[in-house]
Amino acid sequence: MATCLVTGGAGFLGSHMCEELLRRGHRVICVDNLETGSLRNIAHLRQPEFTHLNIDIIEPYFVDEPIDFVYHLASPASPIDYLRLPLHTLKVGSYGTHHTLGLAKHHRARFLLASTSEVYGDPQVHPQPETYWGHVNPIGPRGVYDEAKRYAEALTMAYHTQQGVDTSMVRIFNTYGPRMRPHDGRAIPTFLRQALQDRPITVFGEGKQTRSFCYVDDLIRGIIALAESGFHEPVNIGNPDEFTLLELAEMCVEVTGSRSEIVFEALPTDDPQVRQPDITRAKDLLGWSPQIALREGLQKTIELAGTEGLVGARR
Ligand code: NAD
Repeated sequence: MATCLVTGGAGFLGSHMCEELLRRGHRVICVDNLETGSLRNIAHLRQPEFTHLNIDIIEPYFVDEPIDFVYHLASPASPIDYLRLPLHTLKVGSYGTHHTLGLAKHHRARFLLASTSEVYGDPQVHPQPETYWGHVNPIGPRGVYDEAKRYAEALTMAYHTQQGVDTSMVRIFNTYGPRMRPHDGRAIPTFLRQALQDRPITVFGEGKQTRSFCYVDDLIRGIIALAESGFHEPVNIGNPDEFTLLELAEMCVEVTGSRSEIVFEALPTDDPQVRQPDITRAKDLLGWSPQIALREGLQKTIELAGTEGLVGARR
């Protein structure tokens, strides 16, 4: 049994991470100040092997017990959140990552950074391999998130090369599943909420931009395999099946049996036109590939989250 510290453990991905680590017999310390997460996400994890510490990682922090793995997931992640919290997002990526790497160093723990496909920006290479350096606008509205993650990657690599910390980095591509917030602005919860309420489905632009969507269970399995691998370079984890936003909207209408019509709205600034992971590295290194196709994952999400979880109340 290992002791795993999960920052952002009360968020969407973090709560699934805590749940899976507990299921594998590990002890879990969840560090989360509930900025964008919720106690509801971890309420079902009440057991002696699970602890929640309400800590803001922007401030220096210390945990006084042995730790074997640090999964650093804390950060606002949806555009609605990081546009509302631009400075917080930059501070979590910089100070928060610094403090968490310092903790991993102190405990000689293996450290995993949750980075993002957004480090590739609006990519000029398709699909995106880890060797692509990206095409990011540092001063556009999305820059606070994209550059915070790029800085966090640089910091993580420096702690590895200069300080000898045993680090790893996952570049996460769009992931979905139960416990996404219905009003967090990301495509899948928005479309499912609108479809379940028979409201118009709002697609940005002409809906021709593409995304690749990974079901949360596939992602968590890949992240844990990476954290346990001893590999230090970034690894893409995502589902390479690529869909236009219009195709996604149509599938959401179909799986919910909705009467919604699809309407088109203005494209947000710097919205990437394409997004598809090259997962050769994850396949070769970890023997990982996703197993849950989009239609099946959407059905699971509806079944497990329930209508209430997907429609929710406006924050
Ligand atoms: P989320 O907003 O649901 O979870 C983030 C968690 O971090 C929340 O529980 C929040 O309260 C916590 N947090 C934020 N600031 C904090 C602080 N200062 N101190 C302590 N806790 C803090 O987002 P998510 O979708 O679960 O994303 C988790 C991680 O995965 C993020 O780092 C995100 O960048 C990365 N990621 C997610 C996706 C995706 O599709 N969901 C894609 C790429 C990368």
